[in-house]
This record gives sequence, structure tokens and C-alpha cells, in this order.
Amino acid sequence: MYFDVIVAGGSVSGLLCAREIAKNNNSVLVIEEDYEIGTPEHCGGLVSIHGLERLGIIPFQKTLNHQIESAKIYAPNGNSFSINSKKQKVVEISRRELDKQIAFQAQKNGAIIKVKTSFQEYSNEEVRTNNEKIKCKIFVDGRGISSLAKKDPTGIISSAQYEIYANWIKKGIVEIFFDQKKYPGFFAWIIPIDEGRGKVGVAGKGINVSISIDEFLKSKGDYSTIRKIFAPIWIKGPIKKFVNDKTVIIGDAAGQTKPTTSGGIYTSGMGGILAGRAISKFLKSNNQDDLEEYQKKWSLQFGKEFEKQSMVRKLLERVDNETINKLVFSITPELEKEISEKEDFDFHSGSIIKLLGLKNSAKTAQIIIEGELKKLLK
Ligand SMILES: Cc1cc2nc3c(=O)[nH]c(=O)nc-3n(C[C@H](O)[C@H](O)[C@H](O)COP(=O)(O)OP(=O)(O)OC[C@H]3O[C@@H](n4cnc5c(N)ncnc54)[C@H](O)[C@@H]3O)c2cc1C
Repeated sequence: MYFDVIVAGGSVSGLLCAREIAKNNNSVLVIEEDYEIGTPEHCGGLVSIHGLERLGIIPFQKTLNHQIESAKIYAPNGNSFSINSKKQKVVEISRRELDKQIAFQAQKNGAIIKVKTSFQEYSNEEVRTNNEKIKCKIFVDGRGISSLAKKDPTGIISSAQYEIYANWIKKGIVEIFFDQKKYPGFFAWIIPIDEGRGKVGVAGKGINVSISIDEFLKSKGDYSTIRKIFAPIWIKGPIKKFVNDKTVIIGDAAGQTKPTTSGGIYTSGMGGILAGRAISKFLKSNNQDDLEEYQKKWSLQFGKEFEKQSMVRKLLERVDNETINKLVFSITPELEKEISEKEDFDFHSGSIIKLLGLKNSAKTAQIIIEGELKKLLK
């Protein structure tokens, strides 16, 4: 058996990559180790409509009914501010359905998808799976974070996300809770699916996420759990090389998730699409430069934004709870309004910098330096 391309990982990046390769009349096989495309769903499912459209996905009407109207962000002392997100058209989607929708697109273009087939090794233009050996010209690694974890465990933090029923979950309102003691370097979140139903999660450096999420849920009130997911997330930005000879790395496996929130449906999905196009070009030309073009194109779209997000992350990792309380206290209604009008969900470093006041005043710097000085004097 021979395929021009074999993609390991049948999720958003792998399936989009296969869709593009098949569209250009090349043979492509996607192998997915799980029993079903789209499961287990390990995602909050927050994505912008613009992002979906750029990925070539027409949102279902049902998806459009899951629009997020605002994000409420809490400081450790309970003070909060809200960003109206109507303009950014952010929706909560079911990854189970999204991944299947992309699988259908890929299959219609001619891709073959096999589930319960696990990638084991690639060498000498041959992929070994759990049950056979298949020849191919290009191997695409879209295996997600599992592929990265072995290479660099320092960029990984643990997360837990439960799907729950609770009358304190409000339709259309995402809630984010900062607390450097409870969730160091990250936050807790509530993503509504509907009134009284949603995904609640926590992530943080060096914490026991199972204990943290239980404590968080207890602090909110009564709830019933219908699903539990424990998954690593990647916060360190893109890896150095997306292409190694005839191996092409895409999506989470290439570190294409946002260093701030670890969201990756759009940025990893675009990784899959750009790789798919570059591979198609290479299959015609046999010119390695065409393959390498993928990394250049992805970096052109996301490189600078990811660099800024990494810097924001480093800054936020250093601040303590008292500093966050002061920062949130200093946010004015005018600033909330400005961010609500102009924020871009997919390129949000500008908004965070504005929220921190870094562009317009030295106030934030003063608050942060005060916090740092206090640490030194302790
Ligand atoms: C708790 C949590 C919440 C998140 N919330 C959001 C959110 O709200 N918005 C957002 O944009 N992003 C979110 N993300 C990130 C998003 O889920 C990922 O960025 C996205 O799924 C990346 O897609 P991918 O195709 O690169 O990898 P993955 O979705 O990780 O898919 C990798 C696939 O490879 C398969 N695989 C692994 N090993 C093998 C093997 N050996 N052989 C064959 N197949 C294999 C896996 O089974 C899986 O299907 C969240 C992530 C987590 C963990």
C-alpha cells in the first residue's frame, strides 16, 4: 500500500491538512488512535466565527446560537471587569461535531480516514502502525501535545476540565478567575454551553488540578458532573523547526497554541492548512524549499503575535495576587469599552497590553515594580 502522505492524528490540524492535500489530487491517509473522530473532547470549544471561516468551515446555525456575549474577569479579591465580546463573534462549539465536520470535508476531497489505528514509527519512507506498514512520501505529525511532551516537558502544564450542570452557569457569559496561589501562571474558567450547563476548568504550574477544580467548584455552589477530562496544555509557543526532511509537524505538536490561553483551534488549524498547501506544492515540484515555505507562512501570520503573547505570559507569571488586585482596580469603564469595541479574539495581545495600561501610562509599571520590590525586601 502507498499514499503520498500519511497524517498521524485525526483532529483539527491533521484533518484540515489532509483536506488540503486531497483537494490537490494527492493520496492521503489519516490515522487516528482513538475509536472515534472528535473524542475524547478535550477542549473548551471557544473560537471566533472569523477563525472558523478562515479555516473554511461554515458554522452550523446551532453554533451561531452559542454566541458568547461577554467575558467577566475576576481578580483574586473578587473584584472584576467585563469585556463585551459581541463584536468579536466568539462562539462555544462542540469539538465532537467540529472535528467530524472537517473529517467529512477531507473525505469528500478524497482523503481516507482510519480510526483505532495508532502511529508507531516513521523511517525510510514507511510508516508503521499498530497493525501494518505503509509506504508514503511525506509523514505529517499531528499528534497533539503527546508528541511535544516527550521533547520538552517544561512547556507543559496540567489542566482539568469538567462538564457540569449548575444553576450558577449563565448562558453567554465566560468567566475567568485569576489567583496566582491557586492557579500559578494560569487561571480557572467557566465556559457556558447553555443556561445551567457548561465546561469548568483549572490549570496551573505545579498544582494538583484534581484538588484545585474540586475546591473551585465547591466555592461556586451546587453542581452535577457529567464528564471529567484531564489534559496537558502547551504554553511555550512554536517549536524551532516545523519541517525535518520529509517529516512535517503541525498543530499542537508544533506548539501552535496561544501562549496566553493555550487556545489552538484556529492557530493549529491554520498550521494544518498551510502545511497541506506546502506539501501539495512539494509533491508537484519535488523542491524541499516548497515544503519549508509552510513554516515561513505560519510565522508570517502568527509569529509576532505569539512573541508578544509569550512576553505577556512572562510578565503575568511574575505578578502576585496583590498586584493583580491593583491592576484590576485600575481598569476604567472607558478602557473596558475601548477593548470591547476593538478586541480581536485571535490576536489579543494588543488588548491585554492595553488592559495592563502599558501603552498609555506608567501606572502598571509602577504597580508591578512595587510588587517586585516587596518580594525582594521579604
Ligand atoms: C482543557 C483544554 C481546553 C481547551 N480549550 C480551548 C478553547 O476553548 N479554544 C481553543 O481554540 N483551543 C482550546 N484548547 C486547545 C485545542 O484543543 C487544541 O489547540 C487543538 O485541539 C489542537 O489540535 P491538534 O489537531 O493540533 O491536536 P489534538 O486536538 O490534540 O489532536 C491530536 C490527535 O492525535 C491523536 N493521536 C495522538 N497520538 C497518536 C498516535 N500515536 N497515532 C494516531 N493518532 C494519535 C489524538 O488521539 C488526537 O485525536 C484547549 C485545550 C485543552 C486541553
